[in-house]
Amino acid sequence: MQVALRAEQLVKTYGSGDSQVNAVDNVSVDLYQGELVALVGPSGSGKTTLLAMLAGLLRPTSGAIMIEDQDLTTMRERDRAAFRKLHIGFAFQANNLVPYLTALENVELMLRLSGQRTPAGRERARELLVRLGLEERIHGLPRQLSGGQQQRVAIARSLISQPTLVLADEPTASLDSERAFQVVQTFAQLVHEQNRAGILVTHDLRLVEYVDRVIQMLDGRIERILEAQEDLSCLANPERCGRIPMGTLGFSGDDCPCSEPEPAA
Ligand code: ADP
Ligand code: MG
Repeated sequence: MQVALRAEQLVKTYGSGDSQVNAVDNVSVDLYQGELVALVGPSGSGKTTLLAMLAGLLRPTSGAIMIEDQDLTTMRERDRAAFRKLHIGFAFQANNLVPYLTALENVELMLRLSGQRTPAGRERARELLVRLGLEERIHGLPRQLSGGQQQRVAIARSLISQPTLVLADEPTASLDSERAFQVVQTFAQLVHEQNRAGILVTHDLRLVEYVDRVIQMLDGRIERILEAQEDLSCLANPERCGRIPMGTLGFSGDDCPCSEPEPAA
């Protein structure tokens, strides 16, 4: 498997003195092409800060971020912006759609910014929106769409320029759970089909069914990484599972039907 992204000893510190916060505290991780990783952890554990650094939107205090053999952290601002347009797609909580452009035009805008506004590209934009269940809303303006529909447009926009890396911060936050499952399933399919490397921040552990690995953060650090399917299915049923300490995620459970309890440390 090919490494798409390598984060090395990433640190982001806010403030100074007594009020200093290590929002991300020495995180190293590799992400492979064709895999979707869920990033989970309690509020304040550093998920958004980590994602913003990986997106090239926030400069780390220290550490390196390697994508396509280039280090995002040492690039000049202009180069980094250009690199981002080509190689990194993101859909964040505030979806930032352009209010006076339709759903389709918002997605096509990314094509133009990345120099891919061809007839084939525009056809891809339409197909993506259809796959995300927006066939009837393609020509709608953001204010005519529900919050969930706007987020799906943002997801289409994150994928359209065929980036190496695609990052989504709680893209399902304003969706009902059935819709959330559909959107994450489609997102996972697209990441796999198109061989992107994807990171999805989510609070909903049931969504981990669709991902290849789960990275659990706590206090700015990676607490654990789960990759075995049985562990993931445990996570998907946290209320029934005693193997994975769920305290930090706000869950608890003592009898796990899928395997034996983890031995006491
Ligand atoms: P999460 O997305 O997991 O909720 P965040 O990355 O938003 O976590 O925040 C991690 C920590 O960094 C928190 O303690 C938060 O208060 C702090 N933090 C985040 N952004 C800033 C900022 N711009 N200035 C100061 N502290 C911040
Ligand atoms: Mg966050």
